[in-house]
Amino acid sequence: MNLHNNGEQQNLHKVIIIGSGPAGLTAALYSGRANLNPVIFEGHQPGGQLTITTEVENYPGFENGILGPELMDVMRKQAYRFGAKSVFRNIIKVDFSKRPFKLTDEEDKEYFTDTVIVSTGASAKWLGLESEKIFMGYGVSSCATCDGFFFRGMKVVVVGGGDTAMEEANYLTRHASEVILIHRRDEFRASKIMLDRARENPKIRFILNTVVEEILGKEEDNKKTVTGVRLRNLKTDEVSELECAGFFTAIGHEPNSKIFRGILDMDPNGYLITKKSSTETNIEGVFACGDVQDNYYRQAVTAAGTGCMAAIDAERFLEVKEYEENLSKHH
Ligand code: NDP
Repeated sequence: MNLHNNGEQQNLHKVIIIGSGPAGLTAALYSGRANLNPVIFEGHQPGGQLTITTEVENYPGFENGILGPELMDVMRKQAYRFGAKSVFRNIIKVDFSKRPFKLTDEEDKEYFTDTVIVSTGASAKWLGLESEKIFMGYGVSSCATCDGFFFRGMKVVVVGGGDTAMEEANYLTRHASEVILIHRRDEFRASKIMLDRARENPKIRFILNTVVEEILGKEEDNKKTVTGVRLRNLKTDEVSELECAGFFTAIGHEPNSKIFRGILDMDPNGYLITKKSSTETNIEGVFACGDVQDNYYRQAVTAAGTGCMAAIDAERFLEVKEYEENLSKHH
């Protein structure tokens, strides 16, 4: 079944969903079942962050866990069953100044819609080092499950002290000979269970109170490789070098909200602000759900929950507007 680009067939829509993680696909399922023919702009990472994880153990309904990509695939198919369509492109510009709202995709195609559900999620954060950019994709990564395989039998570094760092480190021990976890403090944001699992793993070594100052590498025959990292101990100020072939950042995420800057209300970190117990943004008819508006729970199941809320909010909004329009026609 090729559903590619089917969402483009008509140009005035009732609901357009930007983003295709658990929030977006759940919004699509609910708005599909409400006969709103939702179109999902899937962006460059269809399925969102769960497609770059392996086992999801905490999504209710799957006693023995389910693979992230599989879960997203099933969610998408479930939404398609009720008429949702996908467009596998990014929205790069929005005009929310009047309804119908205008959205422009990366091929300069324009779409008009009565409501928008923003579920653009969040992306991995980087340290911001120049060397990170130079070696990105050549030993530097933010996704162990995507790239771990390339470091079979090698030594790798993971930076971070949260659940992501523990999960990435644990995963990497499947491939790497040793995983060195570098964290800037000696206390962890990671949950006890994830931290204990990493601590008990004989292949993981912790270096604490330490930051990475630079990623070291070389370029030979046009091929770049990472050879190590330069570290600074924040307690002693001591600088040292550590050999490694792979470097993984696992220092959290930032919301994908750039295109809404100056348009939708957001907090200083870029998380969209929604009204209490609702997915309404500051613009009537625009709703936000999932990680782009949640810097606290950030779970697939909470994202899916707010996706459901956004679809219900959009449906009720459309109902009220329709009622008002009919009233004004008859008077
Ligand atoms: P967190 O915000 O929890 O942790 C980020 C970590 O990165 C912190 O230890 C932080 O250090 C460190 N850090 C941030 N910026 C820098 C920097 N510039 N230089 C060095 N270190 C830095 O993010 P996570 O992605 O780990 O987790 C996010 C949420 O997702 C959490 O709620 C978590 O529980 C959840 N999650 C759950 C999983 C699961 O249950 N399977 C798996 C992964 C995530 P510091 O502490 O000093 O600020």
